[in-house]
Amino acid sequence: MLKGKVALVTGSTSGIGLGIATAFAQNGADIVLNGFGDAGQIEALRAGLAAKYGVKVLYDGADLSHGQAVRKMVDDAADKLGRIDILVNNAGIQYTAQIEDFPVEKWDAIIALNLSAVFHGTASALPFMKQQGWGRIINIASVHGLVGSVNKSAYVAAKHGVVGLTKVTALETAGTGVTANAICPGWVRTQLVEKQIQALAEKDGISTDAAARELLSEKQPSLQFVTPEQLGGTAVFLASDAAAQVTGMSIPVDGGWTAR
Ligand code: NAD
Repeated sequence: MLKGKVALVTGSTSGIGLGIATAFAQNGADIVLNGFGDAGQIEALRAGLAAKYGVKVLYDGADLSHGQAVRKMVDDAADKLGRIDILVNNAGIQYTAQIEDFPVEKWDAIIALNLSAVFHGTASALPFMKQQGWGRIINIASVHGLVGSVNKSAYVAAKHGVVGLTKVTALETAGTGVTANAICPGWVRTQLVEKQIQALAEKDGISTDAAARELLSEKQPSLQFVTPEQLGGTAVFLASDAAAQVTGMSIPVDGGWTAR
């Protein structure tokens, strides 16, 4: 379905980004991976996706907390693969503390990666997409782009910012063949959430399984984690022609979290 398209997925060396990059490769798109990790493992991942799905897969290890690095990564991707059709702004980090104890450097780091990198990536990719008359900006926001939770001030502020930026991107691209949408996942059991499960297990003196159940029961009525594969399916839908008139939306995939 996406043969001939080029998809750049930020933060795709693990978790949700890897699920989305894999779904795009399965559908025939050439991929640019990005994110941190062990060099050998990343190369195995890159080569494995390319061999399994018969697509081109490049890797760019840019640190997206720097705006210029985000812009260079987008330009390099278009330069090396000849075009850029789909940009998934996914890379993100978390830190939890009450506002009055929230370290300023953690606030700055979360805003830089979770919000400003989305702006820089979008600004760099749009000229290519508008010129082609086709493009997809897919921002991985969160339920925390729609509702708040205690101890997550920077994350919630950044994700609400992403939802707002998605709306403006949709309005500025309306009618050009480019769409912009946000996906708002509930709990997904990735490295980012594993740290929160561990912290809860230690705080309450319970097993990690019990902590995972507690985390779910507090917020996610389905009591099941969302999977990276399911989010890959949502992203593929947004990239499809069926979604050509879906723009400016924030789509919860959250087991009912924001239904109550
Ligand atoms: P993860 O930790 O598994 O993946 C994060 C990815 O971002 C990794 O590839 C990591 O290497 C990369 N990354 C981190 N810092 C980077 C930087 N400075 N530059 C470039 N890449 C960097 O986490 P995840 O849960 O897959 O999170 C992915 C996105 O989904 C994030 O934006 C997160 O906020 C969002 N999200 C996650 C959940 C959840 O429950 N896990 C829920 C809603 C939204």
